Amino acid sequence: AVEVRGVHKSFGALEVLQGVDLLVRKGEVTVILGPSGSGKSTLLRTLNHLEKVDRGTIRIDGDLIGYRRKGNKLHELRERDILKQRSRIGFVFQNFNLFPHLTVLENVVEAPVSAQGRDRAEVEAEAIALLERVGVGDKAHEYPRQLSGGQQQRVAIARALALRPAVILFDEPTSALDPELVGEVLAVIKQLARDGATLVIVTHEVGFAREVADTAVFMDAGVVVEQGPPEQVIDDPQHDRTKAFLSRVL
Ligand code: ATP
Ligand code: MG
Repeated sequence: AVEVRGVHKSFGALEVLQGVDLLVRKGEVTVILGPSGSGKSTLLRTLNHLEKVDRGTIRIDGDLIGYRRKGNKLHELRERDILKQRSRIGFVFQNFNLFPHLTVLENVVEAPVSAQGRDRAEVEAEAIALLERVGVGDKAHEYPRQLSGGQQQRVAIARALALRPAVILFDEPTSALDPELVGEVLAVIKQLARDGATLVIVTHEVGFAREVADTAVFMDAGVVVEQGPPEQVIDDPQHDRTKAFLSRVL
């Protein structure tokens, strides 16, 4: 489970997260919707300590993220421990972020071997199975630039899965894709959801959100305005800000 409690985050005078609470249960899919600048990416980045919170706590499967408690004070973890923690959290970015100088297979194998200290041969076998699962098994020995955007994003998903992550975070995974490639990436994410993965997905694809989400969250101006089942939040929103946003995007 992912438990976010009272998270605040400012950049200078701008308070981007103004007390966010969120609970993502194991095996559930949470989709975060909201206008540009509402703090969605910042929230995702706090979940693996890519952004430090100013106040509040984040726990993933019970572990405090980024800090350890000493008495009633929190001390930031050492870099090594942060990297170790981060290696159990998959992150799929808008722009794929594959390593350009590594083959597809090497991209998937890299972190489990270097950050988790796992056996390379074992990880390679698992990586090949994961690449097949997302439909790019035949691309294992090519380089990212030789793949379409949709194929690259599916490799990025296989790379996240190879970490055996407690949760996978997606930040607008289809918004950099040509429209005809969006479906193949959404299909892979839907399959992960059916297989019981714990997912947190920021997306503007409202139809997809309705289909895949156990919980839909609407954020605006650094707060969670409304959250609940998609039939409620998307089809029958209670708050004016949610209604206004949905009327613009639907
Ligand atoms: P979008 O839908 O456009 O991706 P978002 O909801 O993901 O928007 P964020 O990227 O979280 O929004 O940004 C929220 C606010 O914080 C914006 O006003 C943004 O300019 C600001 N911001 C984000 N990161 C930084 C940073 N590193 N330094 C300063 N300001 C930042
Ligand atoms: Mg964003």
